[in-house]
Amino acid sequence: LEDIPTIRKLYEDSVLAAPPQDRIRYKPNDSLLDRISLYQGDITQLKVDAIVNAANKSLLGGGGVDGAIHRAAGPHLLDECRTLNGCNTGESKITRGYNLPARHVIHTVGPVYSPPEVEEKARQLASCYRTSLEVAVENEIRHIAFPSISTGVYGYPIEDATHIALGTVRQFIESERASKLERSIFVVWSDKDREVYERLIPEYFPPV
Ligand code: ADP
Repeated sequence: LEDIPTIRKLYEDSVLAAPPQDRIRYKPNDSLLDRISLYQGDITQLKVDAIVNAANKSLLGGGGVDGAIHRAAGPHLLDECRTLNGCNTGESKITRGYNLPARHVIHTVGPVYSPPEVEEKARQLASCYRTSLEVAVENEIRHIAFPSISTGVYGYPIEDATHIALGTVRQFIESERASKLERSIFVVWSDKDREVYERLIPEYFPPV
């Protein structure tokens, strides 16, 4: 395939965490491809302008990635969170990163998944990604890392959530206001989640 060097570069740049299948072809020089990455591991270790926290409405800490972020950031993060008066589902608020390598934390509150209100939950989850990106742009953030919001304790099915994550981020970074946002990093923890992202990324970033 003539596009092999491009595909190879995607893999080397960790945009794809595994070599893509030969039948998947990418447009050469498609700038969107350079603006996302897939990373498997601990989001608290990333030295980026901002990491996103899958928080709860209180913003006062919890389990999962929220607990990991508060542990790594230290107690001053909780002090700042106390001043924010919580956060509604689908909205996002920014703090400093304190002891984290990341300079900021963008706290967003994902929906608790519960049929039959699936459409409402999907809108709320999309809103988490969109408002996080809006807050990032307002704060001149160039690199942002997202965990897989709502797919842990909050029970959102990983496939559905990944479609929403990829589609919402793609739509946002195509818009003019996102021009200074250089890279959005999708952070997965489990092998299963990585497999889902690897399979769906080519649908959004973008097959010919
Ligand atoms: P929610 O309450 O929004 O479902 P969780 O924290 O329970 O949030 O889970 C969200 C996702 O974050 C899950 O896929 C979980 O495996 C993942 N996760 C947990 N800890 C970390 C971490 N340190 N870095 C990145 N992802 C993590």
